[in-house]
Amino acid sequence: MCGIVGYIGRKDAVPFLIDGLKALEYRGYDSAGIYIAGKGALKRAGKVAVLAASLPDTFSGNAGIAHTRWATHGPPTERNAHPHTDASQTVWIVHNGIIENHAELRDALTSEGVVFSSDTDTEVLAQLIGSYYTKGDLLEDAVEKALKMVRGTYGLAVMSRREPEKIIVARLGSPLMLGIGTHEYYVASDATPLLSRTRNVVYLEDGELVVLTKEGYLVRDRSRQPIEKAIETLAWSAVAAQKGGFEHFMLKEIMEIPDVIRDTLRGRLVAEDGRVVLGGLRDVTERFKKVRRIIITGCGSAYYAGLIGEHFIETFSGIPVEVEIASELRHRPFTADPTHTVLIAVSQSGETADTLEAVRLAKRNGMLTIGVVNAVGSTIARETDAGVYNHAGPEIGVASTKAFVSQVVVLALIALFLGRTRILSKEEGIKLTQALLALPDQARTVLSRRKTTEEIAKKYARMENALYIGRTYQCPVAYEGALKLKEVSYIHAEGYSAGEMKHGPIALIDQSL
Ligand code: GLU
Repeated sequence: MCGIVGYIGRKDAVPFLIDGLKALEYRGYDSAGIYIAGKGALKRAGKVAVLAASLPDTFSGNAGIAHTRWATHGPPTERNAHPHTDASQTVWIVHNGIIENHAELRDALTSEGVVFSSDTDTEVLAQLIGSYYTKGDLLEDAVEKALKMVRGTYGLAVMSRREPEKIIVARLGSPLMLGIGTHEYYVASDATPLLSRTRNVVYLEDGELVVLTKEGYLVRDRSRQPIEKAIETLAWSAVAAQKGGFEHFMLKEIMEIPDVIRDTLRGRLVAEDGRVVLGGLRDVTERFKKVRRIIITGCGSAYYAGLIGEHFIETFSGIPVEVEIASELRHRPFTADPTHTVLIAVSQSGETADTLEAVRLAKRNGMLTIGVVNAVGSTIARETDAGVYNHAGPEIGVASTKAFVSQVVVLALIALFLGRTRILSKEEGIKLTQALLALPDQARTVLSRRKTTEEIAKKYARMENALYIGRTYQCPVAYEGALKLKEVSYIHAEGYSAGEMKHGPIALIDQSL
């Protein structure tokens, strides 16, 4: 997910925190915020520069935490930006990741009288820590109790007004590390912000919790036992660190695919029942279940993901699907019976102009609209009746890779969801959920053949034309592969249905293709 930095020591924390957030900007984010002990919090939607410009001169102190957010729950507004706090504004937290059981916890806390001031899953955790942090308790104990109650992923830094000389750091499924200085300590979600300050780092593992003060740090493992952690030396240059050590963002994002699949599936499969739970469709479930026809729309890779989705949905639910490029759909008459048709709009950014227009047109025609969108709070996410977020994290590379994969996974989830209300038995559902759960490891296996892939690429790098072919599910994959090659290499490429080869294109094949 996005970025976290923290500082405790003898110097002013603000310069490191702001520089640190700027160093993390390469990851992409939608809002930013900072908390300084003794001063309080300041948050802004948009750029770190906007946050920095709004800090008063008096905003300084020896300890603080800061965050760049990539929204997963609640639109990217100032009110939803981190840090978040509890009802008494004692506990302040920054969080990367997703609290899966946020809805249940929110209900429970609300019934105890807690009033929430944001839409985020993170605030639920802040309120929960606050509720355990009664008089005389230590912050680390309250954090530990709260974390026992949550399901999901977190990289977490917590401060308290009552114990201002302390930062509690914890991680599960979302990276965090400590930077070790002289009489000062840093927290960061990746190495980039640390490089200008220290090369000595401690990598945290899942389940570990750290009590950080300016005198030192204490790490506990899952069973609360104190552990010794090795201090390692960072060898990276700042530039390499920005891309996580990869040569470019596209490669970094391709290598993230196994994790992205896991994040897209997270909290959505009920494996023992072979069922899918899609919280974002809750309000429209009844109407969605009754649908008789589905139109999927998108542009570029999103359109190709839609073509794979068409196979999934027709195969697993028997509902007829048509897939249409958004820039075409918006210029066609709508013949569908709106009461029983749903439009599924697929867009990574949620801002694709043609896709948005297609959504608006469908709505004007009275259709149910559903978004498959990566950017929370984006226009398509807001304007559709309901939706399923990708949770693929920010995609910096212009040529979509990990977002495409997560779109396919979301469409598979939708197909399984619809299928189980129609033609799929529980047993078949279980088989499919297991197949989905096996995907991250399968993707990892494919990616482990990176060297071989590179050799193949070298062999064909001088060709001037390329033809990608495939059948059924692999046909849209061929389209997508050809699109990728065009975009990143300027080599002319076409994707084709394998069965169509003998009806013409075979004539093109020669030494240079
Ligand atoms: N799920 C949290 C939110 O939406 C954290 C997102 C992040 O990792 O930046 O606020």
